[in-house]
Amino acid sequence: MKALKERILRDGKCFEGGILKVDNFINHQMDPILMKSMAVEFVRRFASTRINKVMTIEASGIAPAIMVGYLLELPVVFAKKKVPSTMENMLTTKVYSFTKDRTYDVCVSRDYLCPGDKVLFIDDFLANGNAAKGVIDLVKQAGAELVGMGFLIEKSFQHGGDYLREQGIHVESLAIIESLDNCEIRIKE
Ligand code: 5GP
Repeated sequence: MKALKERILRDGKCFEGGILKVDNFINHQMDPILMKSMAVEFVRRFASTRINKVMTIEASGIAPAIMVGYLLELPVVFAKKKVPSTMENMLTTKVYSFTKDRTYDVCVSRDYLCPGDKVLFIDDFLANGNAAKGVIDLVKQAGAELVGMGFLIEKSFQHGGDYLREQGIHVESLAIIESLDNCEIRIKE
């Protein structure tokens, strides 16, 4: 998606370990106009998919997911990173975060992820695919169906996308970063 690629090149910042910071328009300050355009693009790309629920993981996936849910007029459920003491009827899984170098529990209530749900997962980044694998596990535990996964930014050099596509999952990424070597952002045409 042209506008996103241009914005990444303009405002994205490279960090050691293959991390791209987009705090200027996605992860800290947010640009709602661009966020809306990205959601419109997801709606276009998943137009032939039957969806009844949008899912994400807190916190950074919530903004793009709610935009998609708003346009599709569908509920948006976010998996929580801390298991709340008051939440009953929970599904849980473990996710390793390479940006934070730790494993955390991710959970969602069976009240909001239900058998038969057709789930579109939306997140900000796809890197190694660990968050995505956690979501696949939660959706499976719920007896729901994962009908697609949409990412604002995929870092193809970390190969999570290869894994998901090999599983036959419909993956859409609005910008694909091929390399961050030497702190130079190389985006797929
Ligand atoms: P994965 O689980 O695919 O390895 O990583 C995806 C998650 O890690 C995303 O939800 C995102 O929050 C975070 N993440 C991975 N790579 C980056 C990155 O380069 N920049 C930022 N800001 N977050 C990232």
